[in-house]
Amino acid sequence: MQRTTLGDFELTVINDGLYYLDGGAMFGVVPKPLWEKKLPADNQNRLHVAMNSLAIRTGDHTILIETGAGNKLPDKTRRIFDTQQTLLSNLADAGFAPEDFDIVINTHLHFDHCGWNTTRRADGTIVPTFPRARYYYQRGELAHAHEQHERDRVSYLTDNYDPLVSSGSAILLNGDAPIVPGIRVQLFPGHTEHHQAVIIESQNKKAAYVGDLIPTSAHIHPTWVMGYDLSPIACINNRHRYYGEAIPERWLTIFTHDPTTPWAYISRDSDGRYLAEPITQTHTQTSSTPSISAR
Ligand SMILES: [Zn+2]
Repeated sequence: MQRTTLGDFELTVINDGLYYLDGGAMFGVVPKPLWEKKLPADNQNRLHVAMNSLAIRTGDHTILIETGAGNKLPDKTRRIFDTQQTLLSNLADAGFAPEDFDIVINTHLHFDHCGWNTTRRADGTIVPTFPRARYYYQRGELAHAHEQHERDRVSYLTDNYDPLVSSGSAILLNGDAPIVPGIRVQLFPGHTEHHQAVIIESQNKKAAYVGDLIPTSAHIHPTWVMGYDLSPIACINNRHRYYGEAIPERWLTIFTHDPTTPWAYISRDSDGRYLAEPITQTHTQTSSTPSISAR
């Protein structure tokens, strides 16, 4: 758990534990000798990365961005990824009950981003994990999930999102939208066509949960995009669009899959290198990490 403040808002990073992703899938065409210096792989070429959620207390609302992989994965999938199902206990340790949240936002609907939207009970029934919450996701992302395209159908599990549409708990968004004062979503396509970031602003300070636009602090170079990305060129262009605002305005960037640096300020040095500077004013249970640079 790591916590900081942004203006009047309290931001807390909590995760659903670590899981394994293939190193090649995470770095696409980037040669392994370059990326493994930043994120080392194990002897099966796997990276041990996090599923970071962000909880925001605005004073009027309690918001959760992303909900990890949840407890509904088929046994074989769970074994492959070695998911830990720790989001709810980590939320409790950080002082949050499921009933506290009135808003849940998913950047997209891959299983490792919306898994705890719902919970499978012992009797097999599927219930919303956050009973008071409205769940916000993009209508276009939901349509793509339903398409079950052979390229990425394994990433979509219907029980993570369809029951919430049926029950009326889901709010389907059509592009950029304000959610509540200080919280808005903005499309940054590339990972998926309707992938959205969440932009947070209080007292002229800004932060962004950018989802899989920039999954870890090792991915900050604009061309270091993932093999998973459906449109790498859109991803690169949208990173430049993001940096165009986030670097000069010093937005705090939250990384969805970084196991050690969940948030940082992105900057460029005089040689044009992209840098991720971890924040210093934070209450943390893990030791701080050195800044990671990428060319
Ligand atoms: Zn992801």
